[in-house]
Amino acid sequence: YGPAPEASEEARAWLKGRAAGIGHFIGGSFTRPGDERFATVNPATEEELARVSQGSAADVDAAVKAARAAFPKWSRLSGHQRARYLYAIARHIQKRQRFLAVLESMDNGKPIRETRDIDIPLVARHFYHHAGWAEMVESEFEGFSPVGVCGQIIPWNFPLLMLAWKVAPALAAGNTVVLKPAEQTPLTATAFAEICAEVGLPEGVVNIVHGDGRTGAAITAHEDIDKLAFTGSTEVGRIIREATAGQGKKLSLELGGKSPFIVFEDADLDGAVEGVVDAIWFNQGEVCCAGSRILVQEGVAGRFYDKLRRRMESLRVGDPLDKAIDVGAVVSAEQLERISALVRQGEEEGGRLWRAPAPLPEKGYFFAPSFFTEVEPASTVCGVEIFGPVAVAMTFRTPAEAVELANNTRYGLAASVWSENINLALDTAARVKAGVVWVNCTNMLDAGAGFGGYRESGFGREGAREGLYEYLVSDVERALKPGREE
Ligand code: NAD
Repeated sequence: YGPAPEASEEARAWLKGRAAGIGHFIGGSFTRPGDERFATVNPATEEELARVSQGSAADVDAAVKAARAAFPKWSRLSGHQRARYLYAIARHIQKRQRFLAVLESMDNGKPIRETRDIDIPLVARHFYHHAGWAEMVESEFEGFSPVGVCGQIIPWNFPLLMLAWKVAPALAAGNTVVLKPAEQTPLTATAFAEICAEVGLPEGVVNIVHGDGRTGAAITAHEDIDKLAFTGSTEVGRIIREATAGQGKKLSLELGGKSPFIVFEDADLDGAVEGVVDAIWFNQGEVCCAGSRILVQEGVAGRFYDKLRRRMESLRVGDPLDKAIDVGAVVSAEQLERISALVRQGEEEGGRLWRAPAPLPEKGYFFAPSFFTEVEPASTVCGVEIFGPVAVAMTFRTPAEAVELANNTRYGLAASVWSENINLALDTAARVKAGVVWVNCTNMLDAGAGFGGYRESGFGREGAREGLYEYLVSDVERALKPGREE
């Protein structure tokens, strides 16, 4: 099914109902839209969708107070009682999945096929998965207790999914949260707040404060936040790490990447070509774990590039709400300019650019799927995260050289290895320094598998059992710290 017309109508009606502006969600109700507001824009049409309140330090403080007030009761509920709320949220998300998919595609520019089949189902999956953990957290994590009030700051590339990655484990473990969505994509977080109210989640357990980096900085600085979870750029991650040094907050950072995509000469090349489509053109390449560095064994490189170019000819770029579209709009004019500037630099540095011949819509922020060949490993485009639908492709001769090239990065988030020889694939996987390595597949994300990086990709894990440790503190550690009496 496509975006059912009713879902599109529902999204339009929802926006119309919020024409007076969108407020924050604090202590279980929406605040009146404040005086300072910013516009959120549909990147495929450049039309303004809504005006959203810019959260002040006072708004952040009110949200933290609400979260603090809700914490004792929420954390003392039985795991089963908390699980019931998480199951109810998951079911409501499923009930409203078409509406949420349309709203997400309108706000972010990503194809409806992806929001419909990937983003929103994974959001529900995260709440179901963590409902299971809520039931078991007491018995499985004996000697641990919830951290307290969690500040959570997320990016725009998977708006509702990044919210789910943060909120679901925090709530399962018994914490309360103050979350700030990215200023480019605030809409589905607002719809999520409504779902929290609909399921009767106790007030103050989830608080959402909108705004840009200034609001994020107020969350970072707030003294009554016990744990901070951030997903975004390495640059802002560094600012947050410095700002929280000495504060005593627990911290996890999920940052950027430049993930290798290694194709050995015995790989199923057609499969690997589809892998590239999923690795770097999925979600317009705005994926932290995107396979943006294609490494191909020399003997098959010519054939592989030919196949890749042929595949590019059938990619369709355009209206994200059209279900036949493969690649939608990038999130903003600034992001489009950033991608274009890096691509220009790549060409100036001698790279050869291959672009999909797809016609681009006249309006909106679109960039054709592309890849570079003839690039030096030391060039800018090989080192910097482009965060757009642009890969760089290089060749290698031996498996050892593949591993060396793969590890030649400041990041360490993800990697994929393509080979029909499982010994070679597993041996290579073990040598690549990345938080996740996929074999003969890519971008496989699931609530049951921990995700996170090394080096400049950050630290801490999200999802699965290891992700829960980020939202728990051992009683021994608590006893050693001058703590707060709850
Ligand atoms: P960004 O770092 O600019 O923004 C991320 C969030 O931080 C936004 O909510 C923003 O408002 C907020 N922010 C900005 N300045 C801040 C400050 N000084 N203090 C506190 N908060 C601040 O990143 P972006 O451009 O929105 O997202 C793209 C980046 O995110 C890419 O580099 C990508 O690799 C990374 N990312 C990583 C993951 C991951 O899981 N590792 C996932 C998605 C995106």
